[in-house]
Amino acid sequence: MFTRVIIHYHEIGLKGKNRFIFENRLRQNITRALQGEGVESVGKISGRLILKLGEKAAWPEVKNRLQKVFGIAYFCPAFAKTGLKELKERGPAEEFLKNLADEIWANVENKNFASFKIDTKRGQKDFPLTSQEVNQYLGALIWEKSKAKVDLEHPALTIFVELIEDFVFIYFEKIKGPGGLPAGSAGKVVALISSGIDSPVASYELMKRGAEVIFVHFHSYPTTSLLSQENVKKIVKILSQYQPDSKLYLVPFLDIQKEITAKLPLNLGIIFYRRAMFKIAQKIAEQEKAKALVTGESLGQVASQTLDNILVIDEASTLPIFRPLIGRDKEEIIALAKKIGTFELSILPYEDCCSLFIPAHPETKANLAIVKELETQINLEPLVNEAIQKTKVDIIKEK
Ligand code: ATP
Ligand code: MG
Repeated sequence: MFTRVIIHYHEIGLKGKNRFIFENRLRQNITRALQGEGVESVGKISGRLILKLGEKAAWPEVKNRLQKVFGIAYFCPAFAKTGLKELKERGPAEEFLKNLADEIWANVENKNFASFKIDTKRGQKDFPLTSQEVNQYLGALIWEKSKAKVDLEHPALTIFVELIEDFVFIYFEKIKGPGGLPAGSAGKVVALISSGIDSPVASYELMKRGAEVIFVHFHSYPTTSLLSQENVKKIVKILSQYQPDSKLYLVPFLDIQKEITAKLPLNLGIIFYRRAMFKIAQKIAEQEKAKALVTGESLGQVASQTLDNILVIDEASTLPIFRPLIGRDKEEIIALAKKIGTFELSILPYEDCCSLFIPAHPETKANLAIVKELETQINLEPLVNEAIQKTKVDIIKEK
């Protein structure tokens, strides 16, 4: 019965001359997300996108996919009638609405609703009845059929009517989209991703704001197993449901770790690791023309994430460092990870590079001058370059 899906997007970021770049990107992303799902066309009218569903389209899958396309505020499975533009006079318009009421009635699945309302929006200002008149006129017709009472506050059934250009669209539900801005509309960032709980969520947050996320993972193979890298790939695969294809850089980090643990104070180990990670990530960002780094840090969550240590770590890179989880509690982050679908993979007991050589009493108040001075005792630059040379790049597709 439903042959269309009406897609509404957020108005934020849509104003002015960028509006249609944004719309086109959303349209491309939707087309891509629904490839092979029996969608005949993705059109645009009056600040909405309209999908035309073919006979073979499977609604549950279409719905599932649309729920993962950033930029969609909400979407509605609808049926459509055309011929609105011809209706210049009240008589024919009322006749049209009579037929429409019959069709609405035929499409209401559960006809035993206790109350209802009609909610009309009129983009088509030439239509001879106002929105309120359409509400009343259709309301009376539906009442005759259902005998259900009209309840404008808490109706059991809402019948949405949108009059746009030559179309009238009817729908009964609004399904929430993921919000945000279309993937790829905001430029590139490089996310440092472990197989922990936080960094996949942090990456998701940046994708949600339209950034294309390039992933960088540091591993300690062969001291840690290949399985931990496989797990990161699985996490990135889940995140790739939200952006077309994901690039994952797998950086060998063991030699750097060995050098740091051999020559520098153990209690500062994590800080030197992180600084080295930032230096490598920055170089990758430069190659990729990405303009910021992203981490999953949350203030005070662990020793390396105190304010003093963040200050020392930050200095290793000149790029802006985005930490979208900085103010979140672990519980909130876990809830998000579950919603995104990465949690189950993140709690698997794989050894991470940073769980190696961890001191019992890490420094919580590192001093930048001291750290920088100590860092000169190792020759980091060639190690960083070698790690980059040995880095493998994978393209992770959603399917
Ligand atoms: P996560 O759950 O993301 O591992 P965490 O709370 O365990 O985070 P840390 O292990 O201290 O925190 O890591 C802080 C941040 O450093 C991570 O969120 C991530 O962005 C980055 N990071 C840590 N380990 C790695 C790694 N092996 N590869 C890439 N980035 C890493
Ligand atoms: Mg971690």
